[in-house]
Amino acid sequence: MSGRLEGKTALVTGASRGIGYQLAKQMAAEGAHVIALARTVGGLEELDDEIKSAGGSATLVPLDLTDMGGIDRLGGAIKQRWGSLDVMVANAGMLGVLSPIGHIEAKVFEKTMTVNVTATWRLIRSVDPLLRASKAGRAIVMSSGAAHSAKAYWSLYAATKAACEAMVRSWANETMNTPLKVNAVNPGATRTGMRAQAMPGEDPKSLPTAREVAAKILPLAFDDVTETGKIFDVRENRFLTYQDPA
Ligand code: NDP
Repeated sequence: MSGRLEGKTALVTGASRGIGYQLAKQMAAEGAHVIALARTVGGLEELDDEIKSAGGSATLVPLDLTDMGGIDRLGGAIKQRWGSLDVMVANAGMLGVLSPIGHIEAKVFEKTMTVNVTATWRLIRSVDPLLRASKAGRAIVMSSGAAHSAKAYWSLYAATKAACEAMVRSWANETMNTPLKVNAVNPGATRTGMRAQAMPGEDPKSLPTAREVAAKILPLAFDDVTETGKIFDVRENRFLTYQDPA
């Protein structure tokens, strides 16, 4: 690793496993102080151990993203302790259910919307002033190919990811003349628990690992990013404009 995030502070949600865990670890290896957020304390502690044994540093934030007051307080807590925030990765998410649209239970719909969309907006609102205060603020919001693919039974998850992309594109226009760059990411099918839940019959070994996928996302946090309001497609290793077929 090249120390490209030396002296920076990076908030990663969904850091207890999967893509978020690996991204948090790789950001710490690049020198960032990582603020790792998730519900599962065991996963966060494992991450902390790995980061510390590699010489890095992390702060653990055990928080359920349905706790909107907790998200609101996070911005203030980061400001008090570090003054600004350089990188935000809104990675935490849930699949909800794959189901015909008319059969989705209201409770499942609302919870998935809350975690994937409302919490993402609330997090953006909480840390936007801190990212703007950074010399090179970078925001990375995890989307999915599902946002564009219109696959049967994926309506709920797809709607949440399309909403995230819409927020990112507007936010990018609001921050166009500032150093802040905000982009969405389609990681593509990745060997994680969420993918196994969606595709139980698939051979996980046929998929790239979370570590491999995280390594392709990592550069979106670096100072030399000039793109904003785009979707970074990991499999194609390039930014898409919104008009491109995903
Ligand atoms: P995982 O299911 O492996 O991990 C999800 C992470 O989100 C966990 O750390 C989990 O932590 C956290 N999380 C979920 N709900 C909450 C909550 N209520 N509060 C706080 N944290 C929460 O998912 P992946 O690593 O596969 O996915 C990461 C992102 O990438 C997601 O946004 C997903 O939609 C997206 N994606 C993944 C793809 C794939 O093939 N894997 C493909 C396309 C997009 P905890 O349970 O400890 O709270």
